[in-house]
Amino acid sequence: MDRSLPIILTLVLLSCAPKQQVVEVPVPDPPQPVDHAAWLSQQGADAALWQNSSAEAYRLFQQGYELARIRMAENIQRSKGPYAVIVDIDETVLDNSPYQVNLVRDGRTYDQASWKEWTDRSSAKASPGALDFLHHAEAAGCEVFYITNRDVRERASTLKNLSDLGFPFADADHLLLMDGASDKTERRAKVAATHRIVLLVGDQLRDFDERFKDRSVNYGKDLVDAHADTLMRYFVLLPNPTYGTYKDAILGKGSEAEKFGRMEDWIEQNGY
Ligand SMILES: [Mg+2]
Repeated sequence: MDRSLPIILTLVLLSCAPKQQVVEVPVPDPPQPVDHAAWLSQQGADAALWQNSSAEAYRLFQQGYELARIRMAENIQRSKGPYAVIVDIDETVLDNSPYQVNLVRDGRTYDQASWKEWTDRSSAKASPGALDFLHHAEAAGCEVFYITNRDVRERASTLKNLSDLGFPFADADHLLLMDGASDKTERRAKVAATHRIVLLVGDQLRDFDERFKDRSVNYGKDLVDAHADTLMRYFVLLPNPTYGTYKDAILGKGSEAEKFGRMEDWIEQNGY
């Protein structure tokens, strides 16, 4: 027998075998670090768009200032002057939603440097209804005090912004800025020492009373109920989902990674 036959047969069989296809196994990308600032910024997009462009926000501001007229008139009637109306500035009489939308566009979150850059421009628009209401308050015999947690270094740009828009009492005596502490209690007391405060307007409950900083029990809602009567008479609250005590109570302070972690914890702990 020809000894070369098995070799030839093997070669023939091998040449007839279907060619094995090379399957490319995708190599997974290495895990990318989460850009927490960009993530948190994107999560704020709905709130920023709503605050900036919704007819609902527009109407809610008008509605708030309509209520402010009613409450102010009632309180003037039941007390003696000199009268004062206290308003917060940001998201109360000035609209900073363009700053918020820019943060979303850039995938960034609030920081002092970019905020200062924004306020330096003195270009914020008046919140809907704010100008009319404060002119009405002036005509009704009220002095207007602006109590804000803008920093003292923002005094000139803030006064320029307010006076350019035609707000009454836009002067250094009526603008009480933050000088260290965000607690507005002392500044309110300063106004109360010489005036009868007939109304306060703000986008945060802390614009009325510092006690509302405490969100440890039922997110502060029990405190709202406990003070329902004085809130109804003396405070008008305007909408602002973009930032504030509600968010700080969940995300806390610190790095974006820490805030992100606390948000994840909060979601898990609340069973969502
Ligand atoms: Mg505010």
